[in-house]
Amino acid sequence: MTFTVIGSRSAYPLAGEATSCYLIQEEGVNIVVDLGAGSLSKLQEYIDIEELDALIITHYHPDHFSDVYCLQHAVLIKSQLGIMDKKLTIYGPDDPIYYPQLTYKDYIQSKKLDGSSIIHIKDITIAFMETQHSIYGLAVKLIKGKETIVYTSDSEVTQSLIDFSHGCDLLVCECSLYKPKKGITGHMAIVDVKKLILESNPKRVLITHLPPYGDNQDILDGMLDLGHPAIDLAHPDVVVSTQMVMRR
Ligand SMILES: [Zn+2]
Ligand SMILES: [Zn+2]
Repeated sequence: MTFTVIGSRSAYPLAGEATSCYLIQEEGVNIVVDLGAGSLSKLQEYIDIEELDALIITHYHPDHFSDVYCLQHAVLIKSQLGIMDKKLTIYGPDDPIYYPQLTYKDYIQSKKLDGSSIIHIKDITIAFMETQHSIYGLAVKLIKGKETIVYTSDSEVTQSLIDFSHGCDLLVCECSLYKPKKGITGHMAIVDVKKLILESNPKRVLITHLPPYGDNQDILDGMLDLGHPAIDLAHPDVVVSTQMVMRR
C-alpha cells in the first residue's frame, strides 16, 4: 500500500495547507481517510474525484470532515456532466446530526462504522477501534496481505490503541500538543506519542495532526532518544510505501 499525506494540520489549515486527509492507494484502488478543511483541493493534485473508491470519516470534527460538503457538490457536478457514473460511499460513525448529512441525493450513500466494523474494499481490509477523544471517533487499520497501516485519528494513548497498533508497518500517529496541558484531553503530546511508539513497536512512523503554532520540528527532536530509525513528520505530500520512505 502507498500512503500519501494530503493534509496533516490539526484544528485549522495554515496558508496553502489542509487539515487531516490521507490517500491510500493499492493497485488502482483509491481510499481516502478523513477530508478536513482544505483537503479536497489538495487531494486533486493526486487523483480526480471520480477516481475515489471510498471515503472514511473517523469523527465529526471540522478538521476531519468539513470538506465533505464541497465533495458533495463536486460529485453532483461531475455526475451531471457525465464525468462520474458511480455512486460514492462515505463511511462514518453514527451521529444524530452529522451521519445523515453524509448521504447526498442519489449520488452519495453512507454506511455506518463502529469499533467492531470490518470493511473490505477490493483487496484491502479495514478495521476500526473506538478512540479516547472528546467525541466518538475511530482509529483505522488498513490491511493488505501482511502489510498494515494504523492511523490513530484523534486520541489519547490507551492500552487498546497500543494493542491495535502493535507491530504495524506504518503508524500514523497524532501529536496535537508539545506538552500535556491541563484541561486538554483526548489528544496526545510528545510524551504520549513516545509511549505509543515504544509499546507498539511500529516499523515506520509518521507523526501528524501537527499543531498550527510553535516549531513542529520540536516534535521530531523529542523522538530522538527513542533511537527509532524511521520516524518522520507527516508533512503534506510525504508519500510512504511499506518498502521505502520518499519525499516529493
Ligand atoms: Zn482533529
Ligand atoms: Zn477531533
